[in-house]
Amino acid sequence: MSEHTLRVADLTKSYNAGKPNEVRVLQGVSLDVKPGEVVALVAPSGAGKSTLLHIAGLLDIPDKGSVQIEGTDMSRLSDRKRTAVRRSTVGFIYQFHHLLPEFTALENIVLPQLANGVADKAAETRAMALLDRVGIGARAAHRPAALSGGEQQRVAFCRALANEPSLLLADEPTGNLDPDTSDRVFDALMALVRDTGLAAVIATHNLDLAARMDRQVRLNGGVLETS
Ligand code: ADP
Repeated sequence: MSEHTLRVADLTKSYNAGKPNEVRVLQGVSLDVKPGEVVALVAPSGAGKSTLLHIAGLLDIPDKGSVQIEGTDMSRLSDRKRTAVRRSTVGFIYQFHHLLPEFTALENIVLPQLANGVADKAAETRAMALLDRVGIGARAAHRPAALSGGEQQRVAFCRALANEPSLLLADEPTGNLDPDTSDRVFDALMALVRDTGLAAVIATHNLDLAARMDRQVRLNGGVLETS
């Protein structure tokens, strides 16, 4: 077992390669994240945060470079195996919650577990424990439209952790909330992450939130600077 949950090395990624509108987004990005470590990924909009998170989370492939998750080099796996690793190992949180509108908060956390082979009762128990942990157990039976923005995002955190991933990747997870709500929802996220000992990379514009993580890296001109 590797000492790192995530190791990305020398990633490069361009869009429209070789064309006049080529965008060179990543130009040699390396990042290691250990279990229990929470890394703030700070960069202005358009710098390539989503591109990096998508590659690290196996939703996209780099032009060059490698991604290792728990010691396994992902470029050596078939697409099917990579998808299986992503489903069982990586949790994603986006700026917008992307909850399923026709299902309750609880069901939104149960469904990914059922898809992963967990039995009904066990999935419900885990979903309820997660909702309680982020302080919204009383909202379990509400559909997303009946929840506030902060509550919706808390449900999305629970969903991301439903299948006990070892790596959490979050793209501006509180970017859509007002500053006070953002602060409280971020606290809930950090408590959840600390409980589980996850490795996490959390992209944010917000320097106050970034300062509350273990370490900060900045994406600038296609390379990562550690501060
Ligand atoms: P961030 O998440 O930091 O805002 P992104 O990773 O979304 O940045 O995008 C980085 C750059 O790559 C931007 O200039 C964006 O316009 C460009 N880009 C992202 N996806 C594509 C794509 N599919 N095709 C062409 N350009 C893209």
